[in-house]
Amino acid sequence: MLFKDVAEYYGKLEGISSRLEMIDVLTEMLSKVKKNEIRKLIYFTQGVLAPPFEGVEIGIAEKLVSEAIARASGHTKEEVFAAYKKAGDMGTAAEQIAEKSKLRRMNSHKYELVEVFDTMHKIALSSGSGSQDTKIRLMSELLAASNPIEARYVARFAIGTLRLGLGDATILEALSKTATGDRKLKSELENAYNLCSDLGEVGEVLFTDGVKGIEHFKVTLFKPIRPALAERLPTAEEILEKMHGRAAVETKYDGFRVQVHVDKKSRHVEIFSRRLEKVTHMFPEIVKAALEELDVKSAIFDGEALAYNDVTEEYYPFQETIQRKRKHGIEEKSAELPLHVFAFDLMLLDGEDYMTKPYEQRRKKLEQIVKKDGIVRLSDLLITTKPKELEKYFETAITSGLEGIVAKDLTSTYVAGARKFAWIKMKRSYKGELSDTVDLVIIGYYLGRGQRAEFKFGGLLCASYNQKTDMFESVSRLGTGFSEKQMTELQKALDKTKTKSKPARVASMMEPDFWVTPKYVVTIRADEITRSPMHMCGLEKLPDGTEVGYALRFPRLVSDGIRSDKSVEEATTTKEIIEMFRQQKKTKLEER
Ligand code: ATP
Repeated sequence: MLFKDVAEYYGKLEGISSRLEMIDVLTEMLSKVKKNEIRKLIYFTQGVLAPPFEGVEIGIAEKLVSEAIARASGHTKEEVFAAYKKAGDMGTAAEQIAEKSKLRRMNSHKYELVEVFDTMHKIALSSGSGSQDTKIRLMSELLAASNPIEARYVARFAIGTLRLGLGDATILEALSKTATGDRKLKSELENAYNLCSDLGEVGEVLFTDGVKGIEHFKVTLFKPIRPALAERLPTAEEILEKMHGRAAVETKYDGFRVQVHVDKKSRHVEIFSRRLEKVTHMFPEIVKAALEELDVKSAIFDGEALAYNDVTEEYYPFQETIQRKRKHGIEEKSAELPLHVFAFDLMLLDGEDYMTKPYEQRRKKLEQIVKKDGIVRLSDLLITTKPKELEKYFETAITSGLEGIVAKDLTSTYVAGARKFAWIKMKRSYKGELSDTVDLVIIGYYLGRGQRAEFKFGGLLCASYNQKTDMFESVSRLGTGFSEKQMTELQKALDKTKTKSKPARVASMMEPDFWVTPKYVVTIRADEITRSPMHMCGLEKLPDGTEVGYALRFPRLVSDGIRSDKSVEEATTTKEIIEMFRQQKKTKLEER
């Protein structure tokens, strides 16, 4: 497929805000691509060179891209920079300059998508002395042969802001439509994606092995599984009722979720975060323990890593654990503050798929392979049928400084990539506050007024994620809880993602001073969830004809700025907000 055709489809996609139309355009584009191109087309469309967990960054600085544009067009660097400043977007600047290039198009070569992709890959991999020149040269060769619309997407891809606004669910739906003409295959495709977190791989299997390949998709070592997530319920009675009278109740550790993949024969270990980034380098002691302590040939298991003092039996706060995100001093930190992994699930063992087995069986096996006193140890567990016993266990967890409990359905399989009632969490709650925080997506921001006028930043417009429609629905305007440092940081991050008009997949009647592409998640605590005509979250028509959504009362920021461990599709969903509203109403009635 020619890159020119891909760029034209991207141009069309950019002008559309309806998700259904987006799916149609994507489907048309996917139907034109060959087997050996599909993987690269999907990655390019996602704005990446490999599945995100590989962490291959194209990372060309804006300065280098402008230099390449100048070299390719015969303009000066200053002219390019002025065009960039005026357009506010490198892609538009590259396009405008290509339209009035002072040089004749260098060659009449029409680039294939695969050639553009491979060149970008080469650029990303070139490092060491002279690599800057190589990057500029390769980039300017691409640009010199590009027509204006190709130049727009080459430049945007290079600086890492393709801005097509496509979610994973939209791409999966388009793949289903390409294969079957409708959404029939969507849940099988989702399942395959949940097992490998790699849309390129899913597309390639579909194009090569057809529907059968997708239906028989298997979990594999070193491809991260999308994590199982927990629903919420406020009382022990409700939890036990939902779990048919008998539940496994585990301590909810407030640490860092890790998915550990280990193959002893090749001595290969990889650790993935909740967001499925490779974080192996952060945890040298877990790598060592996975190789030495576990009674397995190979395995994938889930756990929570946190700093724990064996002598005092104290858990350290999450902030101590997260310090490992720093690139330096990890070895020192691991000696000073050793971590433990509390393993709580098993997904693959010696080549055998455990995800499809019930929890009870997975746990039994986990107990056989994890030693008692190692770095990797088992999560604490109580199996109970009695609400009182569950409550007592919960209270003990809270008193020990833990977050609460996660109850697990003994009969359920491992539900990858979904928040289902197979796991239910119950967290500590404070009077007059929602029992849980929510993770919301930033869709816009407001400028500072009054005392804040010295900062350009004054507050956020946040949204929940509607999984059904794949849209971000406004739910809260947030103006408090920011420190000066956070304001400066937020301003810096948001400035890079601001857009002229409302971005695709955003539903909001509120108009912030600036819209931003949904990219960042923040954690917010509020007193209550209320009905509101101002927000689009869960908007519905009441019998009297008025339309109301849901909103947060007295929201305040609690995360330390942006939560980098969550992607926007992992934010609190609209369905969860509605459920939290329902639970809060119930609790209030019971309190009376
Ligand atoms: P939260 O902010 O409450 O942790 P979350 O959205 O990150 O919410 P949930 O699915 O709501 O995640 O809660 C499950 C999370 O709790 C897991 O991602 C994991 O990090 C953590 N956790 C701690 N202990 C356990 C346990 N024993 N079993 C399962 N998850 C656990």
